[in-house]
Amino acid sequence: MLANIRIVLVQTYHPGNIGASARAMKTMGLTDLVLVNPRRFPDAEATRLAAGAEDLVEGARVVASLAEAVADCVQVVGASARLRSLPLPHFDEPDDMARTLVEHATADPVALVFGRERFGLTNDEIRLCSHQVSIPANPDYGILNLSQAVQVLAYEVFRAWRRRPQSDHRPTLPAEQRQPTREQLGHFHDHLGRVMQGSGFLTQPHAQTEAQLQALFARAQPSRKELSLLRGLLASLEQRLPKREG
Ligand code: SAH
Repeated sequence: MLANIRIVLVQTYHPGNIGASARAMKTMGLTDLVLVNPRRFPDAEATRLAAGAEDLVEGARVVASLAEAVADCVQVVGASARLRSLPLPHFDEPDDMARTLVEHATADPVALVFGRERFGLTNDEIRLCSHQVSIPANPDYGILNLSQAVQVLAYEVFRAWRRRPQSDHRPTLPAEQRQPTREQLGHFHDHLGRVMQGSGFLTQPHAQTEAQLQALFARAQPSRKELSLLRGLLASLEQRLPKREG
């Protein structure tokens, strides 16, 4: 149940929060937990706070980067209490987020990403997301404990899953019409970056321009077929570029 919906915790400081998040997930039928560079794991405190969800803690995968944690996902939603400057599509209402997440999860893996207790997600990490979501809260005190934020969003996902339209009438789209994985999108942006530099449009890597283009394509939500069309276009432009020395 809900096996395609992954919870990713980035560099969690308190192992207890990992256990409490696992418990929050299990109450809502989620099972796929991925930890990016946790400070202490495995840890007795994580197991203690899991309180019956030890199986999720034991089954958690530990990876070295967020990119690795979400490479196979078609939608990656970063949970953040604050709006950042990056113009990614943003859900102000968690139930809207949960509906689209559940819809995409019928065919492909998707992820909900949570930041560190002290400083959340970095801009580079947010850039790896396709969307952001905020839990509406007291404007003067709106930051939830990590595992409680997991609980709220896991609840919304479970609710959306219970109310999902019956899939019998809605066959899964063929792969080429579905969203690309984050890895496929990453390869596209690398390719675009190479062509921008090779053509002289950019004379050196320019993080801001690249971030703006990433946000543009995040909003456009190209299908795999559209993305391969763009890759073809880039490849043909690349062939006409003067060969660079060195
Ligand atoms: N001090 C950090 C917040 C850390 S709370 C900061 O200012 O960014 C730990 C994590 O819980 C956050 O990274 C986020 O993923 C989640 N979280 C906490 N409150 C949230 C809220 N209101 N909306 C969405 N996510 C929230």
